[in-house]
Amino acid sequence: MRRPVLAGNWKMFKTIPEAVDFVEKLKPLVAKAEDCEVVVAPPFTALSAVAAAVKGSNIQVASQDMHWEKEGAHTGDVSAAMILDAGCAYVIIGHSERRQDHAETDENVNRKAKAALAAGLLPIVCVGETLAEREASRTQEVLERQFTGGFAGLTPQEFSRIIVAYEPVWAIGTGRTATPEMAAESHRYLRGLAHQQFGEGLAVELRILYGGSVKPENVAGLMAQEEIDGALVGGASLKADSYSAIVNYPRK
Ligand code: PEP
Repeated sequence: MRRPVLAGNWKMFKTIPEAVDFVEKLKPLVAKAEDCEVVVAPPFTALSAVAAAVKGSNIQVASQDMHWEKEGAHTGDVSAAMILDAGCAYVIIGHSERRQDHAETDENVNRKAKAALAAGLLPIVCVGETLAEREASRTQEVLERQFTGGFAGLTPQEFSRIIVAYEPVWAIGTGRTATPEMAAESHRYLRGLAHQQFGEGLAVELRILYGGSVKPENVAGLMAQEEIDGALVGGASLKADSYSAIVNYPRK
């Protein structure tokens, strides 16, 4: 049984008071969702305030990025130890916006994943093709490159703590969702890569989230797919009513 993860990526939204106010509203709305992991990923500035506000609830906190070094001359970056210290249990790594805006490479994703695991964080590693790549029938080639590069050199024990988020770039923030079948096809392919690289047992246990315009209206259809183990949600995670509706999607 793969325990579902519903994670909200707030991107560059919410001041500290807005973030705390949001989770205070969210807590009672998702309190009964005991069959899944409920995660919010505020911007760095609000991490510790949100972590304090959710203490004792079923909501956990993720950072949206981290640096792989323990410390050093890296202006604007934060380390795994720093986000752990701020109260994070998870970290999003390799989001397509970081790949696009900050030239994040598969090699950097790999370094970050290793550093996150060494620090005891659960990495949510994002992979996914652009529209041009999908239209050129290169989806699987891109996923393979991101998967093998991102997870190179991980031990089976380390890989067992990885969460993958399949996020087709053309579906992020566009309102255009992959159909449940399209998403499931890529998830199956990713699970196949996990099988090849880490063996059947770990592949079966790997949690693969879907991300890309997930909303209250489409989450149940996506979650009904055997291959889909949760969602990484951007826009619809910014309002307590829509995010709680996603977390509380009608179970089969
Ligand atoms: C995301 O930021 O990871 C995302 C999937 O965004 P949205 O839900 O807005 O498409």
